[in-house]
Amino acid sequence: MLVACRRRCCLCYFLKGNQEERRGQIAHLNKRSDDDRLENLVWLCLEHHDSFDGNTSQSKGYTLGEVRHWRDKLIETLSEAVLPAGQPMARIAREVVAEAETDPAHRWRFPLWLIANRPEFFAYSAPGADGICTIERIDLPDGRIVIACVEMPGNPGKSITNAAEYIFRQVCERFELSTTRVVWLENYEFFDRDEWRQVTFGVDGSAEPEWTTMTPDMWRGLLLSPKRRVTASSAGELRSKVRKHFPWPPVEMALGLDS
Ligand SMILES: [Zn+2]
Repeated sequence: MLVACRRRCCLCYFLKGNQEERRGQIAHLNKRSDDDRLENLVWLCLEHHDSFDGNTSQSKGYTLGEVRHWRDKLIETLSEAVLPAGQPMARIAREVVAEAETDPAHRWRFPLWLIANRPEFFAYSAPGADGICTIERIDLPDGRIVIACVEMPGNPGKSITNAAEYIFRQVCERFELSTTRVVWLENYEFFDRDEWRQVTFGVDGSAEPEWTTMTPDMWRGLLLSPKRRVTASSAGELRSKVRKHFPWPPVEMALGLDS
């Protein structure tokens, strides 16, 4: 982690524009100090380490999702910077990425529609590595649309946190959802399973994502509560990971058929 981050604090780097080496410490994302898996570690300057680890009423408390996002982005940024420009592999990799970003034919195409009350796999395109997650649509009585985006074990691509803005836009586009009506929730099925985060993308849906850990009050505001894990029927269909506390239509709604 020291090598990957090269003693740069990802929060200083992106949020304060400070790209210098900083004195700091390794922090554990899930706050469990015996969990030394690489994916759980992050190098933070002393100041940010305190405000992340303190997790008290600090006004600038960063969420796990937020820190993970900036950590991954820092590693990506630094590793791009050290790729020797003349190397054929680096050039090919850049071309493949550029092509995937501009040519719709390189996008994932699943014969997919969105079924209410049931998580569906969604394949997304993101710079560097496409990925797969599940999404579940819940229409609230007040007209808002909750999308519960869950990272499943084995996702080959970029994490749903790191690709949040791409998945958000692709889901809204694909299912013709107004970005202002969508409430975006994020959760990992295998890592900190009990933590859910709401991700916001500014008023018009195009700003940098921001993460807020879901509180019981926020769940109540949505008339929903989280279930502990994803289960599947004997037919292999995934069951909802979100409990609804309002009359929910038992009929399935197929929406957004576009082909
Ligand atoms: Zn810092």
